[in-house]
Amino acid sequence: MYDLLNVKGLKTAFKNNNQRVSVVNGVDFGINKGEIVGIVGESGCGKSVTSLSIMRLLHDTTGDIQDGKVTFKGENLLDLSERSMRKIRGKEIAMIFQEPMTSLNPVMKIGKQLMQGIILHLKYSKEKAKKHAIDTLKSVGIPRAEDIMNEYPHQLSGGMRQRVMIAIAMSCEPELLIADEPTTALDVTIQAQILELMKRLQSDRGTAILMITHDLGVVAEVCDRVIVMYAGRVVEEASVDELFESPRHPYTKDLIESVPKIGERKSRLYSIPGHVPNPNQMPNGCKFAPRCQHAMEICFNKEPELTSEEKRKHRCWLYQQNNVGREQNLGSK
Ligand code: SF4
Ligand code: MG
Repeated sequence: MYDLLNVKGLKTAFKNNNQRVSVVNGVDFGINKGEIVGIVGESGCGKSVTSLSIMRLLHDTTGDIQDGKVTFKGENLLDLSERSMRKIRGKEIAMIFQEPMTSLNPVMKIGKQLMQGIILHLKYSKEKAKKHAIDTLKSVGIPRAEDIMNEYPHQLSGGMRQRVMIAIAMSCEPELLIADEPTTALDVTIQAQILELMKRLQSDRGTAILMITHDLGVVAEVCDRVIVMYAGRVVEEASVDELFESPRHPYTKDLIESVPKIGERKSRLYSIPGHVPNPNQMPNGCKFAPRCQHAMEICFNKEPELTSEEKRKHRCWLYQQNNVGREQNLGSK
């Protein structure tokens, strides 16, 4: 049990040609107060849908939650009314996305957008909210905060817009910040600054962060612990150090292998062969088997469970006891 958020058996399905297809299929993980946890995986692995499910923000999609529990500070968010959920969103759990332009209102001044949440959730007077908004903008490294209050989103650079989004997210001092690819749209220098800012907010304010990313570089930079997702499932979980030092799941190994290393000259960038399976046509057995260099017979027939080994977890027949194929496989390496 984690002391902030516990996700258990989360299943989310989408409607597709009158069929329901599971995009998130029994996801389990948790976050402690003040921790930075990464969810990493290729696009389509279900990481964004997991975060939207936690926030119950699927109404713009054809998706809905089929099963599971999302317990935040002891309360199952999936049992709450929309009204109660609205009090949690923005105040206790805030979210930032890849492209701030889509979450900021293009025709509303930055100051007004910031003050809205502050007035709604913290019940501050207009004057007090304005001061708090300016302080929050300063705290995320925005120069000329008073002037920026009167500007529109399009007047700012991409990096500044993302800082504004972080300011809006942090303005009510949430205990959990969910950041979905927060730096993907930014160039490398700005990306580093934003990650640095998020780390600082975590250490100054003790905000826990769930960092959703396809980029292991981001994970290495900021996270304490990592969840690796593949085809709607958790396939590995470990501390960042353990994950990079001794990845267990073949998919994690491939992901690490495909990160370009500074100073290393590679004739060709390694990319994992094959594709993430279509949720309509999930293979039987291990979902990674069609792309796995270590696949054994059992892998194509039976899906491995997520098993624990000390503080880490993995879903792979290579590490499961009484696995009949193990010696055969390790012997043939
Ligand atoms: Fe590869 Fe089998 Fe492990 Fe799946 S269970 S990752 S196919 S070795
Ligand atoms: Mg995504």
